[in-house]
Amino acid sequence: MAEPVDFAVVGGGPAGLRAAWMALQAGIAPRLYDAMPSVGRKFLVAGKGGLNFTNVSEKISEAYSGTQAGSDVWGSLLGESGAEDFREWARELGVESIAKPNGRVYPAKMKAAPMLRRWVQKLKAGGGQIFVNHRLAGIGREVGGGWRLDFETPEGRRVEVARAVVLAMGGGSWPQTGSDGKWQEMLQGLGVGVAPLHPANCGWDFAEPVFGKAAGMPLKNIAARCGDIEVKGEILVTDTGLEGGAIYRLTPFLRGHPLVTVDLKPAFSRSDLLDKMQECKRFHLEEAFERCRVRDCGKVLMESHPLRETWKTAEEFVSAVKALPFPLARSRPLDEAISSAGGVCWSGLDENLMLRELPGIFLAGEMIDWEAPTGGYLLQGCFSTGTRAGRGAAAWARRGMGEGIAEGRMGWKKDES
Ligand SMILES: Cc1cc2nc3c(=O)[nH]c(=O)nc-3n(C[C@H](O)[C@H](O)[C@H](O)COP(=O)(O)OP(=O)(O)OC[C@H]3O[C@@H](n4cnc5c(N)ncnc54)[C@H](O)[C@@H]3O)c2cc1C
Repeated sequence: MAEPVDFAVVGGGPAGLRAAWMALQAGIAPRLYDAMPSVGRKFLVAGKGGLNFTNVSEKISEAYSGTQAGSDVWGSLLGESGAEDFREWARELGVESIAKPNGRVYPAKMKAAPMLRRWVQKLKAGGGQIFVNHRLAGIGREVGGGWRLDFETPEGRRVEVARAVVLAMGGGSWPQTGSDGKWQEMLQGLGVGVAPLHPANCGWDFAEPVFGKAAGMPLKNIAARCGDIEVKGEILVTDTGLEGGAIYRLTPFLRGHPLVTVDLKPAFSRSDLLDKMQECKRFHLEEAFERCRVRDCGKVLMESHPLRETWKTAEEFVSAVKALPFPLARSRPLDEAISSAGGVCWSGLDENLMLRELPGIFLAGEMIDWEAPTGGYLLQGCFSTGTRAGRGAAAWARRGMGEGIAEGRMGWKKDES
């Protein structure tokens, strides 16, 4: 029988690596297992073009949503390990960071690879062990306590037994980085509640594919709306639909109501735009575009729009400029999304992110049922949940030494709804 290890982490993304780090801080040498030949693949992808790893916005906790999360969950998690803690930890790794005026924080040299390299080096230097090409295929209770972890490896099956386990196998987007969401069945088989994974921070396809001429063009300084929710920002028109920051932020709302309306001139009121058209003797579409300065992508979209023929007056034209409707057919597939929504339900987790029904198993990162827009919130969420789960698992592993988990020590108010 395998000799039990104190602390096992499954998944070497930022959440799992952070949890392993917390074990080291508690004086426990963690073992981390990952299915891929190397760890942190999605983290490296996230770093392409600049790693936006957190956000110093004062309202950061409002960025997080997800079904069933208690009202105080994110306040509590971010209170324990927030943006400044993440920056401080990066500094400890020798990575200085800069905060942009919009709150987004990047490494001064923008890159993810040095951060990951030093993170792994420090884990190993502290006694942590990393086992790559280890795919978790099953979990079971071990007679006598602890959890039995069944791994598939190139050399065949390998079984480990661990007192405390942190699962951090990621969401379901970009499966080529290793996080393929296949853990869902495994956990459901153990009775764990899992909300289905959906694409988040993703593009959407048009219901009517008539905007081909605008493909590749950006819509800048617009406001996009879904129902009552309005987001200012940018949209990129793709071959099949829309993507970009404003669409990503609307995605949780578009799932239930797939219609986006775009205000092409948010800096001007309706009456401002009507004033610009006052001197037109007769309504003429070309002149209306010029007077309202609707150009480039906005103009191409309006010219291709199925409602174009209905704009026969200045009022009708201005209404369209202020709320150009785009019915959407569906989101792009999960594989293409930046992140996923859904995952292990909060109701099954205690305040240490331990599964209530499977004591000793903790959860971290995108595996949990939360979502957040781009802007550094995703990696921050992984860091914060990795910290909480890692700390809780370390306390659990030490239970035999009489230390126990301090109930409610870092807890949040329980919303049992
Ligand atoms: C294109 C792109 C750009 C992004 N940009 C940003 C950004 O700028 N800012 C930001 O905050 N976030 C960004 N993100 C999101 C961010 O990278 C993720 O939220 C984060 O990596 C999730 O971390 P995680 O640790 O939960 O999971 P992951 O990073 O997905 O890691 C999970 C790990 O678990 C392993 N694993 C899975 N199944 C098993 C198994 N059965 N057995 C063993 N191991 C397994 C995987 O191989 C993987 O290494 C971006 C993502 C993408 C795809």
